Amino acid sequence: MKISTLLAQAGSRRDPHTGAISMPIHPSSAFQHQALGQSTGFDYSRTSNPTRLALEQTMAALEGGARAVAFASGLAAIDATLRLFSPGDALVVTEDLYGGSFRLFEHFGRAQNLRFIYTDSSNTQETARALAAPGVRGLFVEMPTNPMLRVADLDALADLARPRGITFIVDNTFLTPALCKPLEHGADIVLYSATKYLGGHNDLVAGLAVARNAETGERLAFVQNAAGAILGPFESWLLLRSLKTLPLRMQKHEENAKAVAQFLLGHPKIQNVRYPGLPSDPGHERLLRQSLGAGAMISFEAQSRDEVERILASVQVFFFAESLGGAESLLTYPLVQTHADIPPDTLEHIGLNERLLRLSIGLEDAGDLVQDLAQALG
Ligand SMILES: *Cc1c(COP(=O)(O)O)cnc(C)c1O
Repeated sequence: MKISTLLAQAGSRRDPHTGAISMPIHPSSAFQHQALGQSTGFDYSRTSNPTRLALEQTMAALEGGARAVAFASGLAAIDATLRLFSPGDALVVTEDLYGGSFRLFEHFGRAQNLRFIYTDSSNTQETARALAAPGVRGLFVEMPTNPMLRVADLDALADLARPRGITFIVDNTFLTPALCKPLEHGADIVLYSATKYLGGHNDLVAGLAVARNAETGERLAFVQNAAGAILGPFESWLLLRSLKTLPLRMQKHEENAKAVAQFLLGHPKIQNVRYPGLPSDPGHERLLRQSLGAGAMISFEAQSRDEVERILASVQVFFFAESLGGAESLLTYPLVQTHADIPPDTLEHIGLNERLLRLSIGLEDAGDLVQDLAQALG
């Protein structure tokens, strides 16, 4: 089945008792046993819940993975993945990554005695050198990166990781399986902040981990049950409902993003527009070898910090807010919002300065979005 068919019917045909087309929400925490040794497959909802399972099975089918596991947030999914490693292990990590992931690695990963080697994952040679360091057991990549939107070559990185037995993890939050399926490019685990495009409406916090093989899937499910950061049945249902429109939404997000990026590119007060959907972007061709599209995250530089303040105060259609991937377009100031936990020398190294703004392009009319930016830029 094609992705749109799979998703349009996500969670359907699962309730033979009633024929419900929408997956029922099962809030039950416990499930009755008919006799000793007999179970419906459900015992206790931390371990497994029918609504959550419908979501997890949809995601596993969508990604072509053996198993998907749903968590209370994207960071809970990343935290569970870190728990697959042992004290002393090192992970090579994209240096230009979501600030919350960095905070998790530096505070709790380090406390777990893991080591993190930050590299420019869009530079395959640099990443290869980092992977050759002793004790490296994991490679954690965001593609495209956040907020500089650099594009890694997933196939090349997988070819480096595989012979060394290194677990290759991709945070695919920005592209979603509607555009890119990292397992098909050699990843072992795909992670999502489902709060973003998968949820798509700025009304839900959720995370997902999808494993290529059954053994890794089992281990993630063990962490989910043992540590307990599960996604609840109501949110699981809401996410299933959202997934039905994912392919349509991604198309419209991208159509809008292309129009906004073109406008920014031609604006005299704007520099360094980064959007891998632009043919002039250094990651454009590489991205299109791995993805059906570029998504709808754009970053650019204003002329000064004062100008940034003026833009943030002047937008009327965009919201000045810290998230992405929803119907509503958001404007984020990474330096003080999403990336506040990244140390100054790393920020400088990756080029994240006080003039950088990030846009999450929503589902509004493209003309209205362009006009709003035009008036905010004066
Ligand atoms: C938001 C985000 C996360 C964290 O997800 P939460 O759902 O906020 O916990 C992780 N990775 C990326 C790329 C994100 O944008």
